[in-house]
Amino acid sequence: MSYYDIIIIGGGPAGLTAGLYAARANQKVLLLERTFAGGQIATTHELENYPGFPEGITGPDYSTKIEQQARKFNVEIVYEDVQEMHLSGPTKRIVTDAGEHIGRTVILAMGAQPRMIGAPGEMELRGRGVSYCATCDGAFFRDRTVAVIGGGDTACEEAEYLASMCKKVYLIHRRDQLRAVGVLADRVVNHDRVEIVWNATVDGITGDDMVNGVNIRDKVSNEVYHLPLDGVFVAVGVVPNTKLLGKQIKLTEGGNIVTDKYMHTNIYGVFAAGDIRDTPLRQVVTACADGAIAAESARQYLMEQA
Ligand code: NAP
Repeated sequence: MSYYDIIIIGGGPAGLTAGLYAARANQKVLLLERTFAGGQIATTHELENYPGFPEGITGPDYSTKIEQQARKFNVEIVYEDVQEMHLSGPTKRIVTDAGEHIGRTVILAMGAQPRMIGAPGEMELRGRGVSYCATCDGAFFRDRTVAVIGGGDTACEEAEYLASMCKKVYLIHRRDQLRAVGVLADRVVNHDRVEIVWNATVDGITGDDMVNGVNIRDKVSNEVYHLPLDGVFVAVGVVPNTKLLGKQIKLTEGGNIVTDKYMHTNIYGVFAAGDIRDTPLRQVVTACADGAIAAESARQYLMEQA
């Protein structure tokens, strides 16, 4: 069993920033991450709106840099899968696949994961032509024809990235207007290898062993037709990783953690930061800001307890 001032759960931009702020303020910090540092940003091709990088920076490079920076200030980063959290007492007990850790405070920064569309064939063909990450899987579809489902920032970024290597990219969106921010939407609308299928939903993803297309429902005519494809990238938003919390922490209807402006949750000594939180803007820059505030609030809490 190991003891810490602050245990951070999740190694995306929110968790890593909380770690580096807390450790730099001489707190003993453990950061637990299940897979790899960077979270969602590690699987993003390019980060072009993070201040200070006028040329942009790739998601993997940014993730590596922020992890290095946290380690430089002695954040102990370990790769373990959290299985239980006992948050209500004055000390917090975190059980992982490798053991138990005790913290005086906890910062929840587990982020979010891609939402599924729930269409027939999606689950069965996942990894066999259905993907949730163009940066990870795009290269498998070089010179092929693919579709991206969704109309937000992620869908447009993925469509643009895929258009740099695929023969043709369809962007299938359920409305007649993209949700994505102007600059991204414009680039996709004007891209000669992207065709937008407006007012369309996917009734099913087809294929025996591998994806061979989607059944599209035109919402205006209500007609259903088959669009032949080699791959489908689903980008219809994210769901927060709050399942493990059970009923301990107050959540919104959508499953995000409710915090105040100091990142306090409903439990004394437990804070939340980043995409897991109920927040009006989900960007790397806001996740980092949340992490810094959470770390400072945890420090204040520890001072009051001393
Ligand atoms: P999002 O903004 O929630 O957009 C989801 C898109 O999927 C919307 O266009 C939505 O349609 C559509 N959609 C949702 N459920 C659907 C369903 N069941 N079937 C078909 N379409 C469905 O999600 P996101 O694009 O993943 O972005 C998540 C957050 O990260 C946002 O806050 C975004 O701004 C941020 N982000 C920022 C950047 C950046 O700044 N570079 C990049 C990526 C993501 P409607 O439009 O009709 O609702």
